[in-house]
Amino acid sequence: MCAQVIPMDIQAKNGMKNLLTRREERQEELYGDDEGENILAAHSGRRYDPGCPIDNITIQLGMTYESRSQFKAAVKNYAICNGFNVRIKRSTENVVEVVCQEHCPWRIYASWGPTREAFVIKAVNDEHRCNRTPTNIQADYRWITKHFLETIRRDMNYRVIDMVRELHEKYGIIVSRATCYSARSWARKMLQGSLDEHYHMLPSYVAELQKVHRNSTFQLEVEHDIHNSLPRFNRLYICFESLARGFLEGCRPVIGLDGCFLKTELKGQLLSTVGRDGNNMMFPIAWAVVEGENQASWIWFISLLMSDLGIVDGYGWTIISDQQKGLENAVAGLLPNAEHRNCARHIYANWKKKGHSTYILRNLFWKAVKCTACEGFHRVIGQMKTLKAEAVQDLLEGSQSSSGGFSKLLKSMTKFQVPKKK
Ligand SMILES: [Zn+2]
Repeated sequence: MCAQVIPMDIQAKNGMKNLLTRREERQEELYGDDEGENILAAHSGRRYDPGCPIDNITIQLGMTYESRSQFKAAVKNYAICNGFNVRIKRSTENVVEVVCQEHCPWRIYASWGPTREAFVIKAVNDEHRCNRTPTNIQADYRWITKHFLETIRRDMNYRVIDMVRELHEKYGIIVSRATCYSARSWARKMLQGSLDEHYHMLPSYVAELQKVHRNSTFQLEVEHDIHNSLPRFNRLYICFESLARGFLEGCRPVIGLDGCFLKTELKGQLLSTVGRDGNNMMFPIAWAVVEGENQASWIWFISLLMSDLGIVDGYGWTIISDQQKGLENAVAGLLPNAEHRNCARHIYANWKKKGHSTYILRNLFWKAVKCTACEGFHRVIGQMKTLKAEAVQDLLEGSQSSSGGFSKLLKSMTKFQVPKKK
């Protein structure tokens, strides 16, 4: 016979575990499992709603939670919104006991229900004798990160000072700028991490699209880093066959091309092309996410679009765009026989920046735009010249830099009647 030797530290751990279990049993006796059953029976149905606004949380005897972590989070929010500091006196697998940091009678005791389906508040004393405090240890950077995650998702540069002010106005708590700064850094890291993960899923998303829409065009371009062989997102082009067909069958051969910035952490630009449908509304044809708006990306985009719409050299087609250099060069190279005109609103925006922003000049500009004959156009331009010769000069110069001068300006302004923005 040889006796099994148990190391001292394990003995100590076991002893501590037994002690804790005995304590929990004693606590259950104190607040009573029988009593707990009665409480449950009396207060059944008071289930905690995790979606409720945090300043609306209530703590009640018999209230049930999905888990102990949900209970702890609810108590934390409750303490922050009510302005007192709490301390977790005990937190084991079965029991959580929270008391007020100051020596006052406020306390909550919760443990698993009899079938372990819910974590239940079995004893609560909601009476504080301490004063409300503006600083709260519960409002740490983790809590603040969680609180501002959606705000920072919308605006990555959300100001720290605004975070401090919002917490003070909403919950009456004072937090330091440094804490909010850490919280914002954490939130950015979390969001950027998730953006990276989403970009990793693009190849499988494109494969799935191709499986479902066999005749549509989805082109994903990746780059390979010199230092490692991992592919890196570069461009994505999407043109659904149904949209291309709808445009060809139902709209005039006039397309608008434009690009805009993507204001996410990973930047890039969105290129898109639209037509006008029978109701004179925008009809989307194709769009792409690219590294930036330049000649190479426009050539890539327009080439794919030409293939989808069956355009050869642009004959019979009209392109409307702004005066972006890369775009103008790409259109001139790929669609030499297309009519390429500038958007009147874009011309007006550039012209206005040169100091011609008066109400009369604006009216004359849009009057000229709406002319359907040269005579009318020249008359309006003449009126503008009488009023301010410099304005007409700037208008012509702006046009000459990109194309063939006055005749092109006249075409640009008369062909597309962009509705006046009020
Ligand atoms: Zn208290």
